[in-house]
Parts: sequence; C-alpha cells; structure tokens
Amino acid sequence: MNPLETRIRSLEAVARRLDPQPAERAALVDPVVAYANRFLDGLVTRPMFVGPSTDGAALRDAPFDEAPVLIDDLLRTIDAEVDTPGLNPASAGHLGYIPGGGLFHSALGDFLADVTNRYAGVFFASPGAVRMENRLLRWMGDLVGYPPAAVGNLTSGGSLGNLIGIVSARDAKGISSKAIDRSPIYLTHHAHHSLDKAIRIAGLGECPVRHVPMDTGYRMDAAALDRLVATDIAAGLRPWLVIASAGSTDIGAIDPMPAIGDIAARHGLWFHLDAAYGGFFALCDEGRRLLRGMDRSDSIVMDPHKGLFLPYGTGAVLVKDRNAVLHAHRYHAHYMQDARDAREEDSPADLSPELSKPFRGLRVWLPLKLCGLAPFRAALEEKLLLARYFQDAMGRIPGFEVGPDPELSVCTFRYVPQHGDADAFNERLVRRIRDDGRVFLSSTQVDGRFIIRLAVLAFRTHLETIDLTIDLLRRTALELESGQQGEIRA
Ligand SMILES: *Cc1c(COP(=O)(O)O)cnc(C)c1O
Repeated sequence: MNPLETRIRSLEAVARRLDPQPAERAALVDPVVAYANRFLDGLVTRPMFVGPSTDGAALRDAPFDEAPVLIDDLLRTIDAEVDTPGLNPASAGHLGYIPGGGLFHSALGDFLADVTNRYAGVFFASPGAVRMENRLLRWMGDLVGYPPAAVGNLTSGGSLGNLIGIVSARDAKGISSKAIDRSPIYLTHHAHHSLDKAIRIAGLGECPVRHVPMDTGYRMDAAALDRLVATDIAAGLRPWLVIASAGSTDIGAIDPMPAIGDIAARHGLWFHLDAAYGGFFALCDEGRRLLRGMDRSDSIVMDPHKGLFLPYGTGAVLVKDRNAVLHAHRYHAHYMQDARDAREEDSPADLSPELSKPFRGLRVWLPLKLCGLAPFRAALEEKLLLARYFQDAMGRIPGFEVGPDPELSVCTFRYVPQHGDADAFNERLVRRIRDDGRVFLSSTQVDGRFIIRLAVLAFRTHLETIDLTIDLLRRTALELESGQQGEIRA
C-alpha cells in the first residue's frame, strides 16, 4: 500500500465506529428502551416541576473527549441533568401553557425516519416521504374544509407556520416596502406573540397594527373590525391582512370566523387563522361545531404537537393560494437541477424556508394509522368536557371566581381572599401547587389582573387528575387564607 492508502485505511478503521454492527446496536438499543420504559412506568410518581437540582456542571463542563463513553453512563447523565429538572410535559399533571404530547408511536416513527434518513424536502429525492407529508396535509385540509388545491407544509411548529402564512399573504397582496406604512394589519391583543414575531421577521414591522376590541369572552368584535377597516380605507390606507385565533393561548377563545370571513371578502383582506392550539378539535363533533368557519380563512396554522398529542417539533400550515406560497419560497439552485423534472407533487422545499429538514411525516402518519382516528376523536372530546367539568366544579367552590366559560379546553380562575391583595394571594397559590408537584398550572395577566390558568390537552390527563387538581386548589386556598388570617391576628 502506498502512504496515501495506508493513511486512508487507518482513518477508516476509526471512522467505522460511527456505524455499529448488530451486536453493538443491540447493546445500545436495549438500555435505551429499558430507560424509556422506566421513564413511562414511573411517570405517575414523577414530580411535575423540579427546580434546578444540580448546577448543571455535568453538562456544561464535561468535555467532548476523543474516547467513547458508555451508554449507561450517558443515560444516567440524561436522567439527572435533563429528565429531572424543569417541567415534565409527558405527565398527566401538565395543565399549564398548552400542554405538549409525546405519543410513543411517534417516537417509533422518528426512530425509523432517523435510521433511514429519507430526505423529505424534494419529491425527486423521496417521492414516498413527500407523498406521505402531502397526504397528511390534504387530510388536515379536508378536516378544516379547505379545497384540494390548497398547499401546505409540515413545519417545526406554529411559529414557523404563522411566518409562512404571513409571508404568503404579503406576496399575494403585493405589499412592497414602499407601501408598508400605509398597509394596516388587524388582530386582537390576544393574538399569539409568534404573530408579532412573524410580522417583524417578514419585514412588515412598520405596518400600522390595529388592535381590534374584543367582547366579554375575549373574542374579536367583528363589528369593530369592520369599522376600523372602513375608517382606514376612508383615510386612504390599504388594509390587507386580518389575523384571527381559533383557540387563543391565554383563554382558548375562538374569534367569530364566519363574520371575519365576510369582512375580509368584502374589503379584499387576506384572512390568516391561527388555529395552532384549537384546530384539531375539529376531529370531534363538538369541536367541529365550535370551529365552524375555519374554511373561510386564506391560510391556517394548526399544531399536531398540540392537538394530535405529538412530540414537540411538528406544526402545519395550509394556504389556499398555492402561487403565493411558491412566490415567497420557491428557489432554483443549479446544483439541484436533477430534481427539476420530478414535479408530480409539490416539494416541501418550495413551500417553506427550509431546504434540509427532518422527515416529519412518519411521526404523524404512524400513530394515526396504528391507533386509528377513534382514540384521537375521543381524547379531544374528553379534554373539552374535562375543562367544562373543572369550570363547573370551581365555580361552586366558595371564594373562587371563574373566567368566561371555556370554549375549548382552557379555564381561567382566581381566588378572591377576604383580606389582602388578590394578585399576591393567587401568585402564592400557584407557587404552592407547583411545589406540591402533582400538577402544574400556569398563570397569566388578563386586564391587568393575575389569573390562574388550567389548559387540558395532555393525552394522559383524565378525570382523576382533574379531580385531584380541584381538591388541591380548594384545600390550598383554604390553608393560605387561614394562614393569612393568623398573620393578621398576630
Ligand atoms: C402554541 C401556539 C403558537 C406557537 O406555536 P409553536 O408550535 O409553539 O411555535 C401560536 N399560536 C397559538 C394560538 C399557539 O397556541
């Protein structure tokens, strides 16, 4: 062998460690599967929230050495440093924010997608992966009443979906940089902050933003929207975009979509609908009734990692105007010329900012097929009813004041103490519940007041967790109140 070959061979001997053979694979898979099973079997007793228990040095200061580390040692680090501190979103007690999911079936899809590493960005590279993703998007389109010609993309989440929708709206309406300060956007104060981010990222930060007033249920007041648009038109401005929510994050409120659709059509506005949280409730009869009018939008975002209980990292956006999405996102690079002729299906790379991307389809497709749709429909209706059950029970406990009836699965409430500052009291109440560790509730500000929030969307949450939460809130509020009275008397 010449020196070059000798060097190549010696490098190969080391590089081959990247490709474990059957016995080595088994030695990795077995402990990982055992760890996952231990995690799942122990979920019931695992606290919902743990403050940073170590200083994180095992992650932060540990070097990346030349030599390998054993899988058992690494699983111990993951357990102590990653899977212990912080919030535990896999648990039934995750009732804060909009809970995430984490279906086991999706993990198997991810495992296969990572091992085969099909490139799902371009039809030419993996017709099957692209067909699977487009089929899923068409299924979602059918669910919300979009026409078959609508296009879509499986994104990393709702934030990227909102960006794709807004960029498509911008190009469809021809909002050039010269016109920006005369082109108002309409939304409410309860629109998700990812929309504000998307507007800025899209270069639209100088569009006048009109915050449309809301009714007592924190839904967009459609008559007020109509008046604002008319006023702007009369003043010589060019209204172009209205953004509504089908399930706001704070309250779960559903904006009046049919009325907004009428106004948008009358004035030529693009209607973008953020249904990241609420969209998949359309799978159950009650949800479909509540969500009437989603089909009136021009673009819609819905998050499978919320309403389909998938692990984080899967959102979806659908847009009726295919050309608008292509205008913003299609690009033809010379080195991709081999891919040009295969055009049976739209390629995700032409419909999103991403080129390389994970094959997200398999983690959605596998659970839908393995479980069938029935358990998804049942779980979503169950969550709607659990929220109503909770609201009803809380409204009957003396001292608690409940917010608007939940439209979807978010309830808001607070305790009104006989003495002292209510905001401070409720802050203490949330902290006590968090310290107890069995359930996790979040809080928000509504009209400048501190409000506690319960959001039911974790697939492991069932009636017993809600009963536990009601009992915990009742007892903790009583304890805090009597403690406070003790302080006042002393
Ligand atoms: C969660 C959420 C988003 C953001 O989605 P990500 O998937 O977190 O990026 C946007 N809008 C609403 C209404 C949401 O609930």
